[in-house]
Amino acid sequence: MVKYVAEPFKIKMVEPLKMTTRAEREEKLKKANYNLFGLDSDDVYIDFLTDSGTGAMSDTQWAGIMSGDESYAGARGYRRLMETVQDIFGYKYAQPVHQGRAAEQVLFPCVLQKGQKCISNMHFDTTRGHVGLLGAKAVDLVVAAAKDTQTYVPFKGNMDLERLEKEIVETGAENVGLIIMTITNNSAGGQPVSMENIRETRKIADKYGITMILDAARYAENAYFISQREEAYKDASIKDIIKEMFSYADAFTMSAKKDAIVNMGGLIGVKDDEALYTKVKGLTIPYEGFVTYGGLAGRDLEALSIGLYEGIEKDFLKYRIGQVEYLGGKLKEEGIAFQYPVGGHAVFLDAKALLPHIPYNEFPGHALACELYLEAGIRSCDIGSYLLDLDPETGEQLEAEMEFTRLAIPRRVYTQAHFDVVVEALKEIKKKADQIPGYQITWQPPVLRHFTAKLVPIKK
Ligand SMILES: *Cc1c(COP(=O)(O)O)cnc(C)c1O
Repeated sequence: MVKYVAEPFKIKMVEPLKMTTRAEREEKLKKANYNLFGLDSDDVYIDFLTDSGTGAMSDTQWAGIMSGDESYAGARGYRRLMETVQDIFGYKYAQPVHQGRAAEQVLFPCVLQKGQKCISNMHFDTTRGHVGLLGAKAVDLVVAAAKDTQTYVPFKGNMDLERLEKEIVETGAENVGLIIMTITNNSAGGQPVSMENIRETRKIADKYGITMILDAARYAENAYFISQREEAYKDASIKDIIKEMFSYADAFTMSAKKDAIVNMGGLIGVKDDEALYTKVKGLTIPYEGFVTYGGLAGRDLEALSIGLYEGIEKDFLKYRIGQVEYLGGKLKEEGIAFQYPVGGHAVFLDAKALLPHIPYNEFPGHALACELYLEAGIRSCDIGSYLLDLDPETGEQLEAEMEFTRLAIPRRVYTQAHFDVVVEALKEIKKKADQIPGYQITWQPPVLRHFTAKLVPIKK
């Protein structure tokens, strides 16, 4: 029996949820053209669409919001944030920005050139987008174990070191502009990267003189996994693990909407390269605003400094990862397949296993997401063929290797009973799985269709 890790907090403020009936949800989903992004959030009971910017701030963070200094230049919150970054990461320089993709927009032109390759364990989609916008080429070299959804491997997010070196040698080191280590590896399901792998990647970067950065949105979860799964770090503090992880990079980008538990915010860190920091400041001003606010309000800077500390507390991380493991453990007891072991921020349900009668071009991951909403008002999303889109050359639907429905867990928002509702809903869905329809797209935009496409269930 999997045990729930009790919350290391109590609740001072609540946000009421509206309860709806199945008939009402059928109506709402139809009106949203069977696209879960089209629902009003008021009509959602449990929102597992994303864990980005959806966390609950603490009383201390809200107090910080009230005491934020809104000065255009030289605000108090900026100085505090610089001290926080130096303390947690051991980096000399930092630049606040409004979110993770803004950090990419500002930093990448300083470290990557047109025609070069950018190698990562796996690029997040906005990261890949910004590499592409510069005319560079994104290459993903995650270890093969990442694709095995059923075997326990402790660090499925790792970089494949052999392929990394081979790729650099074949491309020519001068044509590889950047190595990005994404911790945790979001696109591989929030799977962690080991300290050993980060260290070895750095050795290769040094050997060939290539800049290495961290995409650090989920760095605290990664540090926790290292403390739990990497023998050499079982007695190390989370803070020491973080310092060591960051010591292997030259710079980092961070979406603070994840592990820093704010609703909006981002960061760039530069270890010690003053010339690079000067370039970063130079691009921040036209893109984001003056360097001491970087696209954020003064109050956001306060909440961010506080959230950075709260997000690395061991008891919080134990509860956070514990929630995701609780949901995974319950599903395992019920024989419902998901990507195993679970990553840091989400459970990826194996929709292909649950709905084997739905072919890839009728979108099993999306069908399961729709059914979870109809069954219990739970919002999730497809990470499968529906997300993958059409082949840009042939216009044919591409087939994803995996058909997942992602349940992304917001931080400090839902309780054990909410997770039990999700498990009950999936048990019901499993009983009537063969009656669940596939979906057909009736309209789609040319790019990023999953946000706005219109669909209908296929009547058989
Ligand atoms: C969320 C995320 C980003 C992008 O950040 P935004 O704040 O959404 O712009 C980049 N990389 C990773 C790994 C992320 O999880």
